[in-house]
Amino acid sequence: VDFGFRQVPRDAKAGLVGQVFSSVASSYDIMNDLMSGGLHRLWKDRLVESLRPFPGQEHLDVAGGTGDVAFRVLRAVRAAEVGERMAAAAAGRTSSRGRTSPQPPPGASPPSSSSPSAGAETSGSSSSNSSGARSSGVNSGPAGQSSGGGSGAGSSGSSGGPLVPGRVVVCDINPDMLRVGQQKAAAAADLGDESGLSFVEGNAESLPFPDSSFDSYTIAFGIRNVTDRPAALREALRVLKPGGRFLCLEFSQVTQPGLRELYDMYSFAVIPRIGGLVANDAASYQYLVESIRQFPDQETFARLIEEAGFRAVTYENLTGGVVAIHSGFKL
Ligand code: SAM
Repeated sequence: VDFGFRQVPRDAKAGLVGQVFSSVASSYDIMNDLMSGGLHRLWKDRLVESLRPFPGQEHLDVAGGTGDVAFRVLRAVRAAEVGERMAAAAAGRTSSRGRTSPQPPPGASPPSSSSPSAGAETSGSSSSNSSGARSSGVNSGPAGQSSGGGSGAGSSGSSGGPLVPGRVVVCDINPDMLRVGQQKAAAAADLGDESGLSFVEGNAESLPFPDSSFDSYTIAFGIRNVTDRPAALREALRVLKPGGRFLCLEFSQVTQPGLRELYDMYSFAVIPRIGGLVANDAASYQYLVESIRQFPDQETFARLIEEAGFRAVTYENLTGGVVAIHSGFKL
């Protein structure tokens, strides 16, 4: 079966994507672990680390599927809030809404010096670090400003008053994927009704949220499936508050010599077979491989993000470019 979208009419893509994700919803999480050897967990951890969650953060995870990224973000926001409360208690004051330290202007951090476990290698600018890797990365923005974390969006500041807990919205076009996510959340002790987590059915191309609603937006392994990507990027910009952060985790073009051939072999020969054996659905996984092959390379996608109106756009390759995290700010 070849689902190559060169042959699939544009208006048929959405229907095809819907079928694929309805079909894989119940086996989606286990298949992710099997196909990536667990690497998707490290990639998602890195995505959330790059986001630098902060107290009171209002976050939207689009194409959020079964909630993997959203759960991580919510837990990280809660941890930041606990830290904020403890710091406030120690200082004998009431915790305030938002961050404990002033945020830099969006994208104001210098290149990250840490080496993430997922094998991150930063790119997207011409600066070099001591290991010789090109550096700029998703933690970085316009040069010459200081680090501080967070999106710089306008939710916060230590302005006094009680801390309003952050919230995370999972938005996905596919109700079957959302249902699996809701079941997972219900089974997790810390993600119940009062957790600040919500699930919303919606299309990335026309999001059901008002302008300037969120401090940050993530889309993980989702933009590849969207029919009108420029429209989805414009929507991301619209729903972000000024200063808000956009992060996209997506399969990309392998840059490491030798790895590309191995990766191609694995993708085309192994993944559809695992899909056939485990999920009894080789065709959906063949689609996955085809859609990865057709997704634009890092630089091309970065330009698309800029054309949508984002600024300080950078990207970071993980695992030799198997995936990349693109970052941009609404400035
Ligand atoms: N983000 C999750 C993760 O990383 O585990 C799920 C990724 S899954 C590969 C892709 C998701 O994109 C599916 O849940 C699918 O329903 C969703 N999707 C596809 N097209 C979409 C669209 N136009 N708007 C919103 N979600 C979409």
